[in-house]
Amino acid sequence: MPFLHLFRLYGALMPRKIAIVGGGAAGLMAAITAAEAGGDVWLFERNSEVGRKILASGNGRCNISNTTLHAGNFFGQNRSFVSDALHAFNFHHFQKFCRSIGLFLQIQPDGRVYPLTNEAKSVKMLFEERCETLHVKICCDAPITRIDTVANTYTLHTQTQEFEGFEALIIATGSEAAPQLGGCDDGMRFAKAFGHEILPTYPSLVGLHLASPYPQALSGVKTTAELTLWIDREAHGTSGGDLLFTAYGISGFAALDLSQGAAYALMQGRSVGVSINLLPQFQTQELASQLGKLTASMRERTIYALLCGLISSKIAPHLLQSCRIDPATPCAGIGTKTLKHLLHTLREWRFEVTQTHGFKHAEVSGGGVSTEMIDPQTMASKRHKGLYFAGELLDVVGERGGYNLHFAWASGYLAAKAASRS
Ligand SMILES: Cc1cc2nc3c(=O)[nH]c(=O)nc-3n(C[C@H](O)[C@H](O)[C@H](O)COP(=O)(O)OP(=O)(O)OC[C@H]3O[C@@H](n4cnc5c(N)ncnc54)[C@H](O)[C@@H]3O)c2cc1C
Repeated sequence: MPFLHLFRLYGALMPRKIAIVGGGAAGLMAAITAAEAGGDVWLFERNSEVGRKILASGNGRCNISNTTLHAGNFFGQNRSFVSDALHAFNFHHFQKFCRSIGLFLQIQPDGRVYPLTNEAKSVKMLFEERCETLHVKICCDAPITRIDTVANTYTLHTQTQEFEGFEALIIATGSEAAPQLGGCDDGMRFAKAFGHEILPTYPSLVGLHLASPYPQALSGVKTTAELTLWIDREAHGTSGGDLLFTAYGISGFAALDLSQGAAYALMQGRSVGVSINLLPQFQTQELASQLGKLTASMRERTIYALLCGLISSKIAPHLLQSCRIDPATPCAGIGTKTLKHLLHTLREWRFEVTQTHGFKHAEVSGGGVSTEMIDPQTMASKRHKGLYFAGELLDVVGERGGYNLHFAWASGYLAAKAASRS
């Protein structure tokens, strides 16, 4: 008995050995949280450095979080899954955490949050430094290829090495988005091997391919517009902002904001379209009246010249061509029916969406490890004791605006808290 007692005491005093696979936002947050709780933390990263997606985020500025976080900003089969994480680790918790590692934040009027330095580099650096201070064993160039479990302890394998005796394992390997930065489906393969369901993945926050010659002709032209997504001929949301025509179709914030819905519908084999409102500043009636007045008062002027006062001179000839109107036609020669058609196209220039621009160009991925078998309060697997998931490999995808990074921080934090105590 005394021996057993001593053995238990020794066990209780020994730091808990925790493995984290993936050194992205979720993995780094998990590593710091678990190490602060006294764990013996090992972080495995396949790249030669941690945090490569953090560095690329927000065009190098890192839109790190958002002050208003609701389940409605996220999409997945179980949309309420994120509620617990957003409550347990909200923006204020995150801000406090950032202060604790010396990272100051700036909040934009629209609620988007960036590091005060405006540099993603400082985010990566301070997370990494905190890991080093806490003696997290960061193993880079260490792609985990296999994970075994015996009696609730985990053994991790790379091609050449074996790391054993982990009492808890957090899989935070991200998604297939941006493979050039380390994106892959390894975590989903591991999850599947542990008996978790994997939902089909699709690129999100990504450009859209359109079946039309006009985007290619307009490639490189930027404007502001309002887009509407059409699924099976029904409107499914609008987004406004920058629109960039590309050789394949459209990109820019207005297009990215509709891409999750478009990609999901395409994956389901539904018919997807997008319409561009080039003049969202006008109500239809107001625009009709303005166009009517202009054509009446400038009868000698070409319709192209008239349009150039309203939309980009680069877009005007293509829009006219799509309406089958010769740009050299004088306004006097434009009949009521043609004018009506032009008005409609200015407000609803319609295109068929054929596909997304793919994982390589996507910021995030939808689908992934089903949240059905994950405890939303702890990110613990309901199938295996000591197994946790965090970040983008889960079937949770956020809107643009700092939501994806926030979910990575929050889920990494919750997983590590639970992994440290169980
Ligand atoms: C260009 C770009 C810009 C973005 N901008 C923003 C933004 O401004 N705001 C925002 O909120 N979100 C942004 N995102 C999305 C955001 O970066 C991700 O949602 C977030 O980084 C996900 O964190 P994660 O830890 O789950 O995954 P990741 O950051 O992808 O980290 C997973 C890590 O696991 C590693 N890994 C994978 N498999 C293995 C393995 N077998 N063994 C070891 N390591 C492995 C990978 O190399 C990677 O480093 C952007 C994404 C991209 C690509």
